[in-house]
Amino acid sequence: MVPTRLRTLLVSTAILVGSVSLPAWADDASYTTKNLNEQLVMSNLWMQASAEFRGMSYQAFNLAKMRFDSYASTHKGDKKIAIVVDADETIISNSAYESWLVGRNESYSSKTWGEWMASAEATALPGAVDFLNYAVKHGAEVFYITNRKMSGLEGTRKNLKELGFPDVDDAHLMLKTTTSDKEPRRLKVAEHYDIALFMGDNLNDFSKDFKTKSLKESYAAVEKDKALFGTKFILLPNPAYGDWEGKVYNNNWGASAAEKDAMRKAHLHAWQPKK
Ligand SMILES: [Mg+2]
Repeated sequence: MVPTRLRTLLVSTAILVGSVSLPAWADDASYTTKNLNEQLVMSNLWMQASAEFRGMSYQAFNLAKMRFDSYASTHKGDKKIAIVVDADETIISNSAYESWLVGRNESYSSKTWGEWMASAEATALPGAVDFLNYAVKHGAEVFYITNRKMSGLEGTRKNLKELGFPDVDDAHLMLKTTTSDKEPRRLKVAEHYDIALFMGDNLNDFSKDFKTKSLKESYAAVEKDKALFGTKFILLPNPAYGDWEGKVYNNNWGASAAEKDAMRKAHLHAWQPKK
């Protein structure tokens, strides 16, 4: 059964929001953020309740271990080996924060996110603590390049330490200071270390190749770097949020809940049964 709003999308007259053509109900002011937050249910449910998500997390860290062992066995030179990881939805889960939004008429905000970071209640992703401790035991150092802001430093440090992650200190915890672009921080690590692996849930965790403005550019960048996935770049699954979402909105994060709903559905490729 095609949902009513999606059905309407397929037949209704279009209005224009930015450069995206949307159905008239994208104007619907009665459709609220609370309504939109309902769409978080399946992605967060999958991340919290399914055993498959846990299996995928182990799969990512098992692959990381194989790649690290392989890299270390042929590594030459004076530099130490580094593993670069993102934090959120790469080694720790914030699905409890995302799930807190369900049923509420508000979206992510730096205020509530700050409170969540300070609570230090994020949980470790399966396999993450063991792999990173294994890498350190075998001569590597771990750098956490995350876009959590410095205001969240204390809670993040406490959270990672309590979960048993290694190298949780000022030299290795590289939070966002002036820019969300991670390239300068990657280059800083690369000055003194040979980076064996990058781990992330967002393409921007890997390389400047993914500093793209549209989904189309992202697809092209993935094609260009396809040999690096599973070898140099280890990608964790995050269906709840990411840079990709902004591209669905043509980077218009200020769009209304109804417009966002319409833009999401406009990107769905739906089967049209023949009569
Ligand atoms: Mg992340």
